[in-house]
Amino acid sequence: MSDTIAAVATAPGGPIGIIRVSGDGAARAVSAVFQPKNGGSLVDASPHKLVYGTLHSRKGAVLDCCLAAWMRAPHSYTGEDMAEIQCHGSPAVLGEALAALFANGARQAGPGEFTKRAFINGKMDLSGAEAVQELVTAQTAQAAQNASAQIAGKVGGTVQALRDSLVEMVAHFHAVVDFPDEDIDPFLFEQAQEILHRAAGTLYSLAESYERGRVIRDGVPCVILGRPNAGKSSLLNALLGCERAIVTDQPGTTRDVIEETVRVGPVLLRMLDTAGLRDTDDPVEKIGIERALATANGAAMILAVFDGSDMLSDEDLMVIARSHGRRAIAVINKSDLPDTLDLAKIRRHFDHIVSVSAKTGEGMDALTKLIPSMVGLDGAVFDGSIITSARQAAALARAAERCEEALFAAQSGMTPDAVVMDAEGAIAALGEVTGQNVTEDVISKIFENFCVGK
Ligand code: GDP
Repeated sequence: MSDTIAAVATAPGGPIGIIRVSGDGAARAVSAVFQPKNGGSLVDASPHKLVYGTLHSRKGAVLDCCLAAWMRAPHSYTGEDMAEIQCHGSPAVLGEALAALFANGARQAGPGEFTKRAFINGKMDLSGAEAVQELVTAQTAQAAQNASAQIAGKVGGTVQALRDSLVEMVAHFHAVVDFPDEDIDPFLFEQAQEILHRAAGTLYSLAESYERGRVIRDGVPCVILGRPNAGKSSLLNALLGCERAIVTDQPGTTRDVIEETVRVGPVLLRMLDTAGLRDTDDPVEKIGIERALATANGAAMILAVFDGSDMLSDEDLMVIARSHGRRAIAVINKSDLPDTLDLAKIRRHFDHIVSVSAKTGEGMDALTKLIPSMVGLDGAVFDGSIITSARQAAALARAAERCEEALFAAQSGMTPDAVVMDAEGAIAALGEVTGQNVTEDVISKIFENFCVGK
């Protein structure tokens, strides 16, 4: 028995709003608030098909003419009886409709509660459920692709297969451990070594993918350094022109911390201190690059811009010094003008140099190809095998380590229970990824970070 939850699943302000209802009482609640135009009840209509009808308030007043769909358990997102109502998105319509659902046995859903139910009802494993939030917040097509493959079970499937092979192996060993007088078949040890070796390799590479996963999930903080007039703003504009940009005006902050994000293929560059790059009449801001240099400390990537049509200045030397030893690209700008810059000096300090004209766009292709390779995303496959959750990465690394320890035990002729103990440790860690071995606390913590309605 599950209680019935309801929530608005769409962001406020849109023309259309979606209300989701799930649980044993979903049929009763939705039948009370939605009346199909052709008579009968929504729950008697073909499931998964949109039905046109009227949406009613608690008192029976018609709030809207809209669409609704019915999904019968277990063939729904949560695995429970579910309805989705697509109505107009005004707070009045959505609020009144929700109130009517609440008056008919539903209650407000908590954050991620629909997905939590999907996980509990076996519609997806925990890694898949976590990927749902990644998909909701994905900022690049590649991040979305990776997350949707994980929802479909890419990580869960791989981990489950490895876990199954370890469980089977441990079962064989248990049989031996339980009859200590019998000789151990050397073939068993050989087989175990093969399984453990393969599992450790796969698990380490999955855990390591988290480095890239963080990049696709959080983006790369990036700063453009360069002396006044080198072409920093022009370069930013050219990058923005290459890919569509989003300007996020973070609530409660000033213009200075407006964050501009630029999608460069699979990489989301989070440009730091772009306010400093804008045209300004402030003489201090115009002359000094100190502020940008200070910002560079927080950057994971530096685009150091030099004016290729001019000699190196003291300010350029400061930019070189600040880029030293960092993940940096020297961008030699103004390639459409005669080159005057002493490139030899730049070459001594930068492993990556690109010549561009922010004005004509020449060379921008090379720059946008280079950026993904700087963060390990060139040629990356976004098939779900990139881990984006720190929790999963830690559990995978632990499982890999325990497999390696079990392998060592098997190779060095230790007693079978040593192999079993480490292999069981690995099985437990893998269960944390799939959700077979997690506490209620961990589950609650995961879904707390979800949006309401998902
Ligand atoms: P910032 O002070 O470093 O942000 O430099 P701006 O982007 O404002 O550019 C300074 C000047 O250089 C402006 O007049 C730009 O039009 C010019 N500029 C920028 N990039 C190029 C380029 O690639 N070629 C040429 N010819 N001029 C450029």
